[in-house]
Amino acid sequence: MTWVDEQLYVGPRDLGYTQRFRADRFICRHKSDFQDLMVFETRGFGRVLMLDGVVQATELDEFIYHEMMTHVPLFAHGAAERVLIIGGGDGGILREVLRHPLVQATMVELDPDVVAVCREHMPSLSRGAFDDPRARLLFTDGVRFMAESTESFDVIIVDSTDPIGPGEVLFTESFYADCRRRLTPGGILVTQNGVPLLQPQEMTATAGRLGRLFVDAGFYVAAIPTYVGGFMAMGWASDNPALRQQSERVLAQRFSTAGIETRYYTPALHIASFVLPAYVECLLN
Ligand code: SAM
Repeated sequence: MTWVDEQLYVGPRDLGYTQRFRADRFICRHKSDFQDLMVFETRGFGRVLMLDGVVQATELDEFIYHEMMTHVPLFAHGAAERVLIIGGGDGGILREVLRHPLVQATMVELDPDVVAVCREHMPSLSRGAFDDPRARLLFTDGVRFMAESTESFDVIIVDSTDPIGPGEVLFTESFYADCRRRLTPGGILVTQNGVPLLQPQEMTATAGRLGRLFVDAGFYVAAIPTYVGGFMAMGWASDNPALRQQSERVLAQRFSTAGIETRYYTPALHIASFVLPAYVECLLN
C-alpha cells in the first residue's frame, strides 16, 4: 500500500495543497515518449489514470466529465454527423460520442501508449469504442492535425491534459482558430478548461481567445470530484448563438429519440450547467 500525491498543485503551481490516493496496487507505471503514465487501484475510486502525476480519469467519476463534454454539444447541435476528438486517449469521450447513432468519430491522440494502457487496464472507459467501425483513430499532434487537415466537423471536443507539458499547445489562440476553420457552419467547439477556483487563468485566457474568434463563446460547468476544487469549466464556442440557448423541450425530444441512458446528463442539467457561480462570472468579467 502506497499513498500517491497528485502533482497538479505542487511544483510550479504550488498552492500548498494536494489530492492523495491510497494505491492498493500499482497496475502500470510506464514512461512513454511524451509523458509518465500510471494506473493504480484504489478502494473507493476504482482504477485511477495519472499522466505526469495528474489525475485524468477514475473509474468512479469519469462518467460525469465524459457525458458533459459529449452530450452537451451533441444534443445542442442536434444533427452532428462528423465529430472530432482531440486528445481523449482513455477512450471515454469516444465511447460517449459513439452512443449517438448517426455519428462518425475521428480521434486525434498524441500518445499511442495512453490508448494501449487504457484499453488494457481500464477497459470500462472505452467499452469497445476503439473497435467500432465508426471510429477513426489517428496518432499525431492535435495542433498539427488541425493546421494540416482539410476536413470539416460538426462538433470538435478538445479532451486535453492541462496546459502544462504536451497539452499546452491545445490552449493557444492559433489552435482555436484552426478549430474554427474546420467547423461546419453552426458547428460547436468544446474544451476542458480546468477548475476555475484553483486554475482561474486557464479559463480567463481561453475566454479571451475564444471570444476573439467566435460569434458566441462561453462556459458551462460540472463538478467532477477528482478534478479537485469544485466546478470544472468547459469552454463552448460556436458561430451560432442559438445553440447555447437551446430549449429544454428540444433537448428532451432529442435525448428521448436517441434513447441514450446517462448517469449525469439530463436535458434540465444541460440548461442549468450554463448558469455560472458568481465567482466564475466575476472572473469572466
Ligand atoms: N479528461 C482528462 C482531463 O481533463 O484531465 C483528459 C484525458 S485524456 C487522457 C488527455 C489526452 O490528451 C492524453 O491522452 C494526452 O496524450 C493527449 N494530448 C496531450 N497533448 C496532446 C496534443 N498536443 N495532441 C493530441 N493529444 C494530446
